[in-house]
Amino acid sequence: MNLSNASKSEIDVILQKCDWRQTKQRVVLLKSIFDGKDKHFSINQMNEILKDNRSYFSLTTLYENLNTLVSKGYLKQITVDKQSFYDTNTTDHIHVFNQEENRIYDYEEYTSIHKDLPIPACLGLLQEYSLVINIKKK
Ligand SMILES: [Zn+2]
Repeated sequence: MNLSNASKSEIDVILQKCDWRQTKQRVVLLKSIFDGKDKHFSINQMNEILKDNRSYFSLTTLYENLNTLVSKGYLKQITVDKQSFYDTNTTDHIHVFNQEENRIYDYEEYTSIHKDLPIPACLGLLQEYSLVINIKKK
C-alpha cells in the first residue's frame, strides 16, 4: 500500500475502518508506514521516523495505534526476543531476526545479503509459513 500521494478519500477509508478521528498526526503516521515500500520496524524505530517527520506521539499512543492497524489487518505483528516488530507485508513469510543489529529481515532479503551464513536448504520449501529464525549474537 502506498499512501505517500494518497487522496483524502483513500486515507478516510483507513481512518474509518480503524474508528479513528482524523488528526494530522495520524495522517503522518499512515503515510510514514505506508510509503510503498515493504518494511519492518519496531515501535522505537517508527517513533524516530515520526520525529523526523515532525510528528510526536507518546509511545503508549503509538503502540495503541499500531495495534489497531494490526487488528484491522493493515500490519502484521512479529514477536521475537520479547520485542514486537511490525511488517507492512501481511502475508505469511519467513523472517530472520539478527540480534546483533536488532533488525528483522525477510528470509529472501537476508540470505541475499548474508550469503556466508548457512541456512537450512529446506526452509526454501516453507515459504507459506510464518516463522522467525533468530540469529544470536556471537
Ligand atoms: Zn516481512
